[in-house]
Amino acid sequence: EAKRQGRNTWQWYSGGINTHIHHHITLRREIQEALENDQFTVYYQPLVDARSGEIRSLEALIRWQHPQRGMVPPGDFIPLAEQTGQIIGIGRWVLRRACQDAARINARRSAPLRVAVNVSPLSFQRGQFLLDVKQILQETGTAPCLLKLELTEGVLMSGADHAIENLRAIRELGVKVAIDDFGTGFSSLSYLRQLPVNQLKLDRSFIHDITSNKDSAAIVQGVITMAHHLGLQVVAEGVETRAQQDDLIMRGCDLLQGFRFSPPLPLNEVLQLPARLPAAQ
Ligand code: C2E
Ligand code: MG
Ligand code: MG
Ligand code: MG
Repeated sequence: EAKRQGRNTWQWYSGGINTHIHHHITLRREIQEALENDQFTVYYQPLVDARSGEIRSLEALIRWQHPQRGMVPPGDFIPLAEQTGQIIGIGRWVLRRACQDAARINARRSAPLRVAVNVSPLSFQRGQFLLDVKQILQETGTAPCLLKLELTEGVLMSGADHAIENLRAIRELGVKVAIDDFGTGFSSLSYLRQLPVNQLKLDRSFIHDITSNKDSAAIVQGVITMAHHLGLQVVAEGVETRAQQDDLIMRGCDLLQGFRFSPPLPLNEVLQLPARLPAAQ
């Protein structure tokens, strides 16, 4: 009896774990194939100047055109790619593609548009990272003033000295640095003062309820005031409504990004973008 029950229990768990592992093994192999067979692509979402409505930069966001499953969003494979280390190869691929595209995008524009690339903590923490950036800029013949890197709070606040040194070296190249999803981590404000970064990107959870939640509004206002005192620009991500836009403009936010202005777009549509977006005027 007990033996049988034990076996059943074991089988139940075993099935669950096997399915889980099987899913990971499959996904891991498919990610490898995607890199080899060019199934990844990069979309770009505009960041507009809150006051003038002009497009100032573009955020590069990876997409996976899966042969069976269609367009797979990054949230469905980036976490596993971080666990397996595949994010390093993916990150280099995105950086190279974004640099190549930056040249094409800027060939037709009078005001330069920077392209912002998301950097995974694993990539940034590797000793190779700075070398990779320099090499890719050189290989693709991209001016460093066309590139921005987005890093999350956690990786910068880890306290590692080499993180600050790396940031300084990146900035000396002429590449800008933004802190992504700002407000969701546990930043020490005094530490922030030492960080050689250019922009804070307020996480969209604060923007989402800025017009209905006093606490979110207070946090947004506090971050904007503090950032300006430190000489940093503030970007609001996830701006969806006119009311959010008006509120952020009133609070002095510098740049706005979100579906209100434009979703992430494929390169051919980015090449057609006007200098200013209708909703931003
Ligand atoms: P993120 O860097 O914070 O990027 C912003 C995300 O918000 C994007 O999702 C974008 O499509 C979405 N978004 C933009 N405007 C709005 C809006 O008005 N409302 C809402 N609800 N969402 C909006 P996406 O493209 O699915 O990317 C999700 C995350 O995946 C990114 O968050 C980033 O952390 C990661 N990711 C994307 N591309 C890359 C990449 O090339 N490398 C790495 N390491 N991570 C990436
Ligand atoms: Mg980002
Ligand atoms: Mg973000
Ligand atoms: Mg975010």
